[in-house]
Amino acid sequence: MANFAIDAKKENTYDAIVIGSGISGGWAAKELTGKGLRTLVLERGRDVRHVTDYPTTMLNPWEFEHRGQLRKEVRDANPIISKCYAFYEGSEHFFVKDAEHPYVQEKPFDWIRGYQVGGKSLMWARQTQRWSDFDFDGPARDGFAVDWPIRYKDIAPWYSYVEKFAGISGNKDGLPQLPDGEFLPPHEWNCVEKHFQQQMATKYKDRPVIMGRAAHITKPQPIHLEQGRAQCQHRTICERGCPYGGYFSSNASTIPWAARTGKMTLRPDSVVHSIIYDEKLGRATGVRVVDANTKQMQEFYARIIFVNAAALNTNLILLNSTSSRFPNGLGNDNGLLGKYVAFHNYRAGISAQYDGYLDSTTEGKRPNSPYIPRFRNLHKQETDFLRGYAAGFSAGRISRTNNEGLGASLKENLVNPTLGGWYVGSHMMGETIPKETNYVALDSSLKDPFGIPQLKISVGYDDNDEKMVKDYIEQMTEMFTAAGFTNIRTRDDKRNPGLDIHEMGGVRMGKDPKTSLLNKWNQIHNVKNVFVTDGACMTSTSTQNPSLTYMALSARAVDYAVKQMNAKAL
Ligand SMILES: Cc1cc2nc3c(=O)[nH]c(=O)nc-3n(C[C@H](O)[C@H](O)[C@H](O)COP(=O)(O)OP(=O)(O)OC[C@H]3O[C@@H](n4cnc5c(N)ncnc54)[C@H](O)[C@@H]3O)c2cc1C
Ligand code: SF4
Repeated sequence: MANFAIDAKKENTYDAIVIGSGISGGWAAKELTGKGLRTLVLERGRDVRHVTDYPTTMLNPWEFEHRGQLRKEVRDANPIISKCYAFYEGSEHFFVKDAEHPYVQEKPFDWIRGYQVGGKSLMWARQTQRWSDFDFDGPARDGFAVDWPIRYKDIAPWYSYVEKFAGISGNKDGLPQLPDGEFLPPHEWNCVEKHFQQQMATKYKDRPVIMGRAAHITKPQPIHLEQGRAQCQHRTICERGCPYGGYFSSNASTIPWAARTGKMTLRPDSVVHSIIYDEKLGRATGVRVVDANTKQMQEFYARIIFVNAAALNTNLILLNSTSSRFPNGLGNDNGLLGKYVAFHNYRAGISAQYDGYLDSTTEGKRPNSPYIPRFRNLHKQETDFLRGYAAGFSAGRISRTNNEGLGASLKENLVNPTLGGWYVGSHMMGETIPKETNYVALDSSLKDPFGIPQLKISVGYDDNDEKMVKDYIEQMTEMFTAAGFTNIRTRDDKRNPGLDIHEMGGVRMGKDPKTSLLNKWNQIHNVKNVFVTDGACMTSTSTQNPSLTYMALSARAVDYAVKQMNAKAL
């Protein structure tokens, strides 16, 4: 019997375990296997294989039973996820339904999730800007949260490393707040967007408008072809999964690359319950997993563990990893685990018309749009709120389908819609300040279908966010007016936190174990063989989108971990 037990343990023992197969977990898996480690990737959701498991990707609008619309019963049963713009008949199978995975909203919070191999990398909007020292210096300069233990120079080479592999399109704009990267050619502008860019350059010294930087292969390089990925076809239905691998997803890129090494074992339907801590050894030895189908608990073991379950689920797993050494969650000696959660403030938007360029129009589609980098409080504090916001911007020509006629004349009319004027629009992407009072915790009584405590989320806006919304509306109104746009309409949709889908923090990085959970290598201060490289690690939120930074931090942390293992220091 004893031998059976030893054999079973051996069979379940790996060099490394990665929890989660989304954007950050995919990168951890690729790097660990690439360095020769036998790696177990545990994913709570089902398997989604590149191409074969994208059932709607080749459907035309008329081939959808409901023409792409959500059915009323789906909408009624899912009031939270139905708020997400990317949730529709073509993509609904990739989003977590409200009733399946309950959580507790101590304050209203729209938690948008994708539980499957690839996680949210299948449905994301692919905006990928580097962060700068305006972000990494931010908490120290403006006196909030704690100082980041890294600066831009620490992560810059890792941005380059992940950008080349993932394929990031963009223009080298030379802006200090938005460092340039290893770009593939940028997407094209239309004439009204160019007009806005030129007007802003004439009227303001400090408000550049640039083309968005996005994870699309605009010109495949050998490394992309080697991944089996091809040039983006500009279909703009990416959230259905892309059979060309035109945008970066774990499914198209990092996971198959890791599989090719022969070192990866991918185990879908494996819900990680907690991390096992061995008090005698003073380290984590493995994880407890609930099989999603049988609900049986099983254990897996490894020398190092990467936690990449996405920000809030990573908090949940660590909070649920209790032992007599860590009664309040793994590594949680200072009681800060789950606290200082923050997000992006996406509440405000603006739209208008432009009466010029009636002799021009657009052709085809573009899976990206222009971007206004942060300009507020950059070099000095100039407003009554801290930090700032970036903004999306785009212009298009209104076209109305002309369905008059029959036969050839109907066809002719359909392909030549009636053109109206130009519309323009922008939305805000504001930084929020991490606070101790914005936290997640385990609910003391409610359990999920796997017997795991439900996550209680208590995250809200504050006065700083309100002032920022007001400023965005004022500044953008001024900028739109200066550009000659008319019929300007502004909105504050008062959306709940969470719908930005950029939740971060709870397991923040820092210099001091008394005030942070992770060191500068994303290593839990007092459980050195556990690394957290998803959004949970973020000390502050910047205005830039976060996922490129998770990729770079993951690759950097793996490099460090493996060097430490080779030096027998881990
Ligand atoms: C519509 C949409 C648009 C977005 N647009 C952008 C954008 O433009 N730019 C940007 O930077 N970001 C964007 N995001 C956010 C981006 O998708 C996330 O930041 C990113 O996917 C986070 O990577 P991750 O590895 O932390 O999490 P995920 O990609 O969510 O992966 C986490 C994985 O862990 C698994 N998991 C969770 N719990 C467990 C458990 N207990 N056991 C085992 N496995 C578990 C999940 O099933 C999932 O597969 C967008 C997201 C959405 C949905
Ligand atoms: S726009 Fe590009 S990346 Fe998106 S689905 Fe189409 S080809 Fe794929």
